[in-house]
Amino acid sequence: MGAGTNTGSRLLFLNRCEGGCTISPGFEDSRSNHSSIVGSPRELSEWPHTDNQWDSMKRCDEELYAPFEIRVTDTDPGDEPHYEAIVAGSGSELGFPMAGGVAPFACGPIENAISFTFALLYDDMRALCNVVGQESAHAFGLDHEMQCNDPLTYLGGCPNRKFQDVDAPCGEFAARDCDCGVETQNSYQYLLEFLGEGLVPQVTIQTPEDRALLPVGFPVHAEGIDDIAVTRSELWIDDRRIETLEQEPFAFTAPRTLAPGAHTVEVRIFDDRNQYGSTAIEIEQAACESRSDCDFAHICVDGLCVLGPGNAAGIGATCSNSDSCQTKLCAVDAPGHDGVCAATCENSPDSCPSAFHCVTAQGGRRRCIPENGGSGGFCQAGGHGGRGAFWLFLVALFIGRRRCGKGDGDGE
Ligand SMILES: [Zn+2]
Repeated sequence: MGAGTNTGSRLLFLNRCEGGCTISPGFEDSRSNHSSIVGSPRELSEWPHTDNQWDSMKRCDEELYAPFEIRVTDTDPGDEPHYEAIVAGSGSELGFPMAGGVAPFACGPIENAISFTFALLYDDMRALCNVVGQESAHAFGLDHEMQCNDPLTYLGGCPNRKFQDVDAPCGEFAARDCDCGVETQNSYQYLLEFLGEGLVPQVTIQTPEDRALLPVGFPVHAEGIDDIAVTRSELWIDDRRIETLEQEPFAFTAPRTLAPGAHTVEVRIFDDRNQYGSTAIEIEQAACESRSDCDFAHICVDGLCVLGPGNAAGIGATCSNSDSCQTKLCAVDAPGHDGVCAATCENSPDSCPSAFHCVTAQGGRRRCIPENGGSGGFCQAGGHGGRGAFWLFLVALFIGRRRCGKGDGDGE
């Protein structure tokens, strides 16, 4: 059932050779840096690109091997048996000045083999990821094939490669017989048969139930089952990551500043291979009723917990843009001017706290702003709710009016 014939290690170590690697001649042994590929000891210089580039290459190779039961890691497994892909240095350092990479090959998996990808030659991390895929797969027993979107190809023009479930002719630039006595090669099926299927965790959300109506600050509990190991978990609400837990139990609390109404709650649980399974439910959150429903320093305005007056990003605080306000609403008298953090009072104009009142903005939107706005202040409300940068003006402003920001702003 999805298990491969592999009885050995299921670990692929990506080695960036920090401080340089010394490779000694001899039978393949990744644990002691021996390789049959070199005839004499060789020094490889370390990974020449940035840490971010390393991470992006590593993520790409994790994705490449995600369908299979093997863990791609960049933590040195030491004496533990492992396949290894050195991604560092140049071909000339190893004695292969013309090569982008090199690997041992034996028509079958070579335990503890080291493959080499010469990172100095590549600036494009996607291209480098593909070469690492090819060299590491040679050590599993895979040949070159005439399939442009498979990492085992020499053909150009397909940057986004993955192991293809296709019976492809072998060859570099022209079809030839495969090296290992088969007519065609299917890299995906080959790896599936050897490594087994890489299963992602099955995620169950125990609480809340799908379609539930929930109070402010509702708990979310989830469990994951994996064939090997469950690692971390992430809570996502409406496609935004809210929290990460590094170990079980996966018990989250929704933020109390979540708006009332419908939300999609998703829990992702990762396995040892850094691949995740996920389950999502739809819930409805009730409005808050009083500040006791909210976090410390927050108050309940119009059903939503907002950071209260007297706090740096709380309502009534001075703001220059929406990001300076916890509510993401900055009421201004003109674009570019300093404004004041506001809250919505769409549903109940009476919900503004004391010393604030509800005024109507352009488009009929209603906002709580301080009553003592001063002569020119707070006649207009601006906000750019995180997407784009448009301004919302209060219709309460009429040039030449003596007062502004009064009531719903439709008086004379
Ligand atoms: Zn090759």
